[in-house]
Amino acid sequence: MRQTLVAGNWKMNGSKESIQSLLSGIKAGMSDVKNAAVVVCAPYIYIPMVAEQLADSEVSFGAENISEHEAGAFTGEISASMLNDFGTEYVIVGHSERRSLYGEQDADTAKKYAAARKAGIKPILCLGESLEEREQGVTEEVVARQLDAVLELEGVESLADAVIAYEPVWAIGTGMTATPEQAQDVHKFIRGKIAAMNADVAEKVQILYGGSMNASNAKELLSMEDIDGGLIGGASLKAEDFLAICKAG
Ligand code: PEP
Repeated sequence: MRQTLVAGNWKMNGSKESIQSLLSGIKAGMSDVKNAAVVVCAPYIYIPMVAEQLADSEVSFGAENISEHEAGAFTGEISASMLNDFGTEYVIVGHSERRSLYGEQDADTAKKYAAARKAGIKPILCLGESLEEREQGVTEEVVARQLDAVLELEGVESLADAVIAYEPVWAIGTGMTATPEQAQDVHKFIRGKIAAMNADVAEKVQILYGGSMNASNAKELLSMEDIDGGLIGGASLKAEDFLAICKAG
């Protein structure tokens, strides 16, 4: 039985004040979250503050990106050991915004995934097709290619300590949520592909859905067999909305 995981991705949003109040709200509502593990992924600069505020709670935290390099002349980058210094447990890798806005290629994402694992940080590996790719009927090819880059570098066993997030790009921040059936089909495909290599890992790996998940559609999505949780953007910025999703898990 896989544990439900709900992870917030704050993206480039928030301030000291708003994050303090968001975390207080989440912590206050956690006693009503019975079935889901909860993670918030924060902009780098707020991680020390988030770590401090969550020290006495069961809410975990992560970063939204990581450098593939260990250290050195990489101005503006943040390494796995720096994230480790603050006890960061998770990191999002290969988010579609990193891929589309910053030119991150499958191979770069795979190196970031490897850097996180090497430091004992759980990668949340994002996979997903664009609207054009869905319309061309190549969703499975795209997701398989993105996953293969990681499998080739780190092997299927690495997924036992990782999380996958299927995030159709056309559903992110658009309000156009995938139907539970559309999402389930791709989740099943991903799990099946992993099962063909290692049935045990496939059974264990958590596959989250991301893309306009909110309080109203979470329950139905989370009830699907291969959907083990959610990666939540917009709806993770308000404690009430985020907690409603966590409670649906
Ligand atoms: C995301 O950015 O990972 C995401 C799922 O965003 P939203 O929930 O806003 O669609």
